[in-house]
Amino acid sequence: MAEMLRPCPKCGGKAKLKRGLPNMGNSKIRYALVQCLECNYKTPTLKPLKGESDKSLKERAIRLWND
Ligand SMILES: [Zn+2]
Repeated sequence: MAEMLRPCPKCGGKAKLKRGLPNMGNSKIRYALVQCLECNYKTPTLKPLKGESDKSLKERAIRLWND
């Protein structure tokens, strides 16, 4: 998954997928975004759509970064 991330478009730095850990009693992550570790440039924070899987949410964040 992380290996699918392109280098930062601003500085060429390494990017990382970040996610909001689930609340108690909820197994799904709360948000996902991709952020550059060098300059902190990041995608907008994506919240899960109704019924969306964690995998789908993370893939949307990755696609947003790579586009
Ligand atoms: Zn950067």
